[in-house]
Amino acid sequence: MSIESKLSQFREISEKISAYKLALTTLNWDSSTIAPKKGAAYRNKMAALLAGELFSIETSPEFIVCIDELSTEALDEITASEIRQIKKGLDKARYIPKEVYVEFAQLTRDAENVWEKARDEQDYESFKPYLKKLIEMTKKVVSYRKDDRPVYDQLIDDFETGITLADYDVFFEKLKKDIVPLLHKVIDKNIPQPTWLKRIVPIQQQRQVVEILMEYLNYDKSSCYIGESAHPFSSHFSVHDNRVTVRYQEELFTSSIFALIHEVGHATYNGQVDEAYQGRMIEDSMSYGMHESQSRLYENMLGRSREFWSSIYPKVQSVVDALKDVSLDEFILGVNHVELSLVRIEADELTYPLHIMVRYEIEQGLFNGTLDVEGLDQVWSDKYQEYLGIRPPHNGLGILQDIHWSGGAFGYFPTYALGSAYSAQWMAAMRKEIDVDRCLENNDFRSVNEWLRENVHRHGGVYEPNQLLLSVTGEHFNPQYYIDYLKDKYSRLFDVGE
Ligand SMILES: [Zn+2]
Repeated sequence: MSIESKLSQFREISEKISAYKLALTTLNWDSSTIAPKKGAAYRNKMAALLAGELFSIETSPEFIVCIDELSTEALDEITASEIRQIKKGLDKARYIPKEVYVEFAQLTRDAENVWEKARDEQDYESFKPYLKKLIEMTKKVVSYRKDDRPVYDQLIDDFETGITLADYDVFFEKLKKDIVPLLHKVIDKNIPQPTWLKRIVPIQQQRQVVEILMEYLNYDKSSCYIGESAHPFSSHFSVHDNRVTVRYQEELFTSSIFALIHEVGHATYNGQVDEAYQGRMIEDSMSYGMHESQSRLYENMLGRSREFWSSIYPKVQSVVDALKDVSLDEFILGVNHVELSLVRIEADELTYPLHIMVRYEIEQGLFNGTLDVEGLDQVWSDKYQEYLGIRPPHNGLGILQDIHWSGGAFGYFPTYALGSAYSAQWMAAMRKEIDVDRCLENNDFRSVNEWLRENVHRHGGVYEPNQLLLSVTGEHFNPQYYIDYLKDKYSRLFDVGE
């Protein structure tokens, strides 16, 4: 078969795959937002059927032969990247016996139910045997790959291609050395949480803030949609169809605002990918850490800065009664308030990476044999005591708080911290080329989006994180930018000095 016909066969199958994915994304969005609960069982059954069909196409002998053959051809850079990524995924899955695959899928479904109950009842002992089995099964599934690296190294690579355990070790060591002392300096100042943060803000007023933000962030209304859901998320359908959700909470209005800015960061990334990649795998194969870098850049580096709010704050004050007597400076201090906390998803920017460090060290221990599920809840609590200075009163606020392990997602957590660290590196590069603070103060968010489009977004998933960082910033991933950013920001905000 000529290379042209192989490529056209590849495109034909890829398009079919994209069609199934679009259908499944639409079903997922629908059931997480507006679909009536009573129809869930039927919906899930039909979605599982479609997912099965998709799996059959993706692993069909026809497609495997096509990818294997194309991977030995000389292709243009973009297609080569696409084929390489698909082949990498296939190589991980193709040698796993079907019964092992099915057993693992069943285990994660069961474990998720057990975890949810265990969390609500704060009972680690009932989840423990499942956690043990999940670790064993993960090791087993990975063992079918033709890859000699230790299991956890491979898992890390699954979630963030090209970033190694050694990279993470350097990163977390730096955090331990520099951020833990800084955090304790801030905490020692005993700054009380401002009371206005707890004021009730009617949902109608919050909706008006969302309107102000959407205009300010230059979010293109003709290719986006804002819905509501129990947990805020963003969903990508195509370059011109990206959706985000908000969760309005009257008693926690800043949470809705910053979650929205975060999700718009994700959606803007997807919305600014080169249109020519639409429907191709590289359209949205960017890494977890890279995606998170854009949402956190929006939410934290830009969104929690004084410059970001300076031009829109009077408008926000005019619609939110609770902010009428809160000055811009007080607002900025409040939304950057630092507190030792037990729950990752509620953590502030400074403590957040320490929550991840605890999980990373535990995962590493579980896979290199230095830790076991026995007594792991105590290990968790000890690490919180060590890094954050507090102990969970029960396991629901400790080891059982996250869903990830019950789904077999070991190696996922570190990408969250990595995302924040990447964003500091992007920010430093952007500041070299445009006056970010001035753009924000002048209500010119367009220039910020334009820089991100040109340097990061338009490439979609063509490049690995380190490749893209190197070509844009002149360096591979360098955690120093993140450390410097946190030190500079928090010593200025809370006057704690170096
Ligand atoms: Zn995110």
